[in-house]
Amino acid sequence: MRIYIDFDDVLCETARHLSVLARELFACDVPYEAISVFDLQQAFALSAAEIDDLMERAHRTEFLTLLDPAPGGLEAVRVLEALGHDLAIVTGRPASSHDGSRGWLRKHGLAHLDIVYVDKYGRAPAHPPTGFPQTLNLAEFATLHFDVAIDDSPIALDLLAHRQNCTVIVYDRPWNRLYAHAANMRRSDSWADIVSLIGTLA
Ligand SMILES: [Mg+2]
Repeated sequence: MRIYIDFDDVLCETARHLSVLARELFACDVPYEAISVFDLQQAFALSAAEIDDLMERAHRTEFLTLLDPAPGGLEAVRVLEALGHDLAIVTGRPASSHDGSRGWLRKHGLAHLDIVYVDKYGRAPAHPPTGFPQTLNLAEFATLHFDVAIDDSPIALDLLAHRQNCTVIVYDRPWNRLYAHAANMRRSDSWADIVSLIGTLA
């Protein structure tokens, strides 16, 4: 099966690191468990300038390469590959984060995985910087088939709702607990559970 795996907060623990970074930069004390909305400007109560600063730092290579893997995520990727599944990282990160994104995959022995950049959040620059991979718009993304998609963000989940022949796994996070699932969605709170769930679909 072709499996879409989101990067941030599915394969790695981005929000936990951002919570620490926001505390260091802005003395904002919102631990991971208290991030109840996906919009970090709102979750951390930041000004427009502060959220821009936070996100700029969050996409630097030195930040991205230090992110912890999600528990069991690396092992699960290897198990799914050994079972013959075809995996792709599908991320809403800007393509300008490519060096850091690739660096993280390399560090964890996953350099062979493709990264597909999709403008999930409508943030892609009108004039993309040169020298980076292309970012797919939503129409282009809609032409790609996935049998399974794993994501955490309500905005990305909305893009996957009602897809034909695609099981969407909602990776359980504090900011998606109130998300209303579409009929093609299942919730999972661990990579071990995700591997079992995919096993039931094969
Ligand atoms: Mg994510």
